[in-house]
Amino acid sequence: MRTSRVAKDASKYFDTTSTAVAPRRSTRASLARFAYNNKGDTEVTLGSDIEDAVKTTVTRKRKRTETVTQLAPRRVSTRGTRKTTTTTTTTMKTDVETQVKTEEPTSDADDNAGSGSETKSRPRGRVRKPARKITDATTGVVTVEPPSDWEEMYDLVKEMRLTGPAANAAVDTMGCERLADPTASPRERRFHTLVALMLSSQTKDTVNAEAMARLRTELPPHAPGARPGLTLENMLAVEPAVLNSLICKVGFHNNKTKYLKQTAEILKSKFNSDIPPTIEGLTSLPGVGPKMAHLCMSATNGWGRVEGIGVDVHVHRITNLWGWQSPPSKTPEETRHALESWLPRDRWKEINWLLVGLGQSVCLPVGRRCGECELGLRGLCKSAERGKVLEGKKRRMELKKEEVVVTKKEEDGDEHIKIKKEEVVDEVEVEEKKETDGVVNEMVAEAPSGSPRVKEEES
Ligand code: SF4
Repeated sequence: MRTSRVAKDASKYFDTTSTAVAPRRSTRASLARFAYNNKGDTEVTLGSDIEDAVKTTVTRKRKRTETVTQLAPRRVSTRGTRKTTTTTTTTMKTDVETQVKTEEPTSDADDNAGSGSETKSRPRGRVRKPARKITDATTGVVTVEPPSDWEEMYDLVKEMRLTGPAANAAVDTMGCERLADPTASPRERRFHTLVALMLSSQTKDTVNAEAMARLRTELPPHAPGARPGLTLENMLAVEPAVLNSLICKVGFHNNKTKYLKQTAEILKSKFNSDIPPTIEGLTSLPGVGPKMAHLCMSATNGWGRVEGIGVDVHVHRITNLWGWQSPPSKTPEETRHALESWLPRDRWKEINWLLVGLGQSVCLPVGRRCGECELGLRGLCKSAERGKVLEGKKRRMELKKEEVVVTKKEEDGDEHIKIKKEEVVDEVEVEEKKETDGVVNEMVAEAPSGSPRVKEEES
């Protein structure tokens, strides 16, 4: 009983003095109850821990958010985290809240500027910008910007065509330009070039060359005593069946026989027995399209005037493989317009020779030889077949290794050979790592240059 009374007294004492007891922790928030508060003390429950009584206790959360923003800027989820921050800080009437709110749009603006890099994950390695129109905001003049690295690619292909794996393609000796009889008159040579072009569609250069050789020697003379061979007069006089038999190996020879006979009539009646001197005139002939017209116009054995690019299947296919047109062009005519909009005019003739040869020898329609192609080996072609490129690089390093071994053997003896072999193997490994960073077409906006995210990804 005595103990019970003492306990009751003690309990009363603590009840009366409990409001004067200092809070267990002297934090900034706990001291807030001593500050002027126009709401009075209604929000503070006396007798409770002050941190429990004050509704807003977000200091720790805010710090955590800032840490995430600074340490992990590449995470897309940071945007979501920032939104959470806004919600929590709205209940906290401090200077810090104002600062967070005003910074929020800036952060979003940054995100939007590099939105492609966040939401679409910016691709690693070299990014190719395709040909694109740029409108001057002040003058409204539209110009076409060429693909970002076209010149480097062009020069490499030229090197391959002159001295590399694409040298000596069929087009170099059996292209339509080469099939005219060099001893014939200029008018006849022009006619030869036109006939060769008409026969060439859907036909290999070798087959075309063979058919042209037969026409040049076996086309019967139009009159007794006249010379046989490919002349306009002989073409006019020949029986369609005979002509068809002479060109029977080329694709669509029945149609081509018909077109050749009709063309000969038109040339005689409308163009003074010569070929038309304009693109419009040439394309008015049966079976002659823009590609043939431009090639005929620019050929040395044609009119020798470059008025457009001769875009055949190789030029159309390869430029799209490279991503020079985005979106990819659907027809050779689209490709021609796209290329003519930015390619310097002095290359309009050459590009056909370059790409037809490349398409015939290295960048084949089926079974591309990317392991031998400089564009693939140097990571410049977005369509390169990675396995073949890797094999090509290894092969190249093996060759270098052999060269080094032979040289060192001559100079120093066997000990040096071993050392050099090790060095070369290391190089192969490095090259393999680089290989993963191929070219991709740019599809997204560039992030701001000062962005730490950009720096991280490009490094
Ligand atoms: S790398 Fe391959 S796809 Fe590209 S141009 Fe060369 S052969 Fe063609």
